[in-house]
Amino acid sequence: MLALSLAACAHAPPPRGSIEVAPGVLLVRCEDGVCARDCAEVEEAARRALPALRRWGSLAAAVEIEVLPTHEALEEAIRRPGWSWLRAWARYDDVFLQAPGSWGTFQGRIASLSTLLSHELTHCAMFQAAAGPADWTSRRIPLWFREGMASWAAGQERRRLPRSQLAPPLAQDTSLDPFADGEALSRSDPGLVYSAAHWAFVDLVARFGEAGVRRVLAAMKSGLDFPAAFGAALGISPADFTEDELRRLRRP
Ligand SMILES: [Zn+2]
Repeated sequence: MLALSLAACAHAPPPRGSIEVAPGVLLVRCEDGVCARDCAEVEEAARRALPALRRWGSLAAAVEIEVLPTHEALEEAIRRPGWSWLRAWARYDDVFLQAPGSWGTFQGRIASLSTLLSHELTHCAMFQAAAGPADWTSRRIPLWFREGMASWAAGQERRRLPRSQLAPPLAQDTSLDPFADGEALSRSDPGLVYSAAHWAFVDLVARFGEAGVRRVLAAMKSGLDFPAAFGAALGISPADFTEDELRRLRRP
């Protein structure tokens, strides 16, 4: 099977240059070593992922999805060695993606890939709605908001731990804070961090609506950093919000 796919790969290299999925909005570029089949699947999945972005308005800058042949190539491109579980990484106007054929176990291919790309493209939409190309890294958007928004928008609740499974570890060790310590914990316990982020965002939307989220993004676009924008848009500091949320998640 492996030999077959390698042979198929050798006979059909990926197309050169960028493939336009949606002109001026979304491109796919496959690096050398990526199979043509992977490249075609990413293109189709990207097309299906696009509608999820509409709720955030149009992208200010076209996004390019760069498909890399191996996990090592992904880690090298994003300069994050040792993140073995990572399959993709989004920035302001590009997404690095490990070719799905190299994931090992990969169920449902195009459907899973399109959900993953909805998640990554939501990151791009958030960065573009919150800042410009030169200052998007300076808004101090915490991991729980970045990942919660992407996970919520991509409908990834089935990939997250249910609230009932989050409660015991959080109640048992009250120093465990997946919001304040999200960056550090995400390396050792991404399940806990991403799941807490997901449910926090679900609760944020329930409390303030999608309009509230858009107000936070717009306040950042006007120049505020995340803590100030969140407070100005929602009338509560992010620290108070996540403290409430942590109390809520500790309840079984
Ligand atoms: Zn993410």
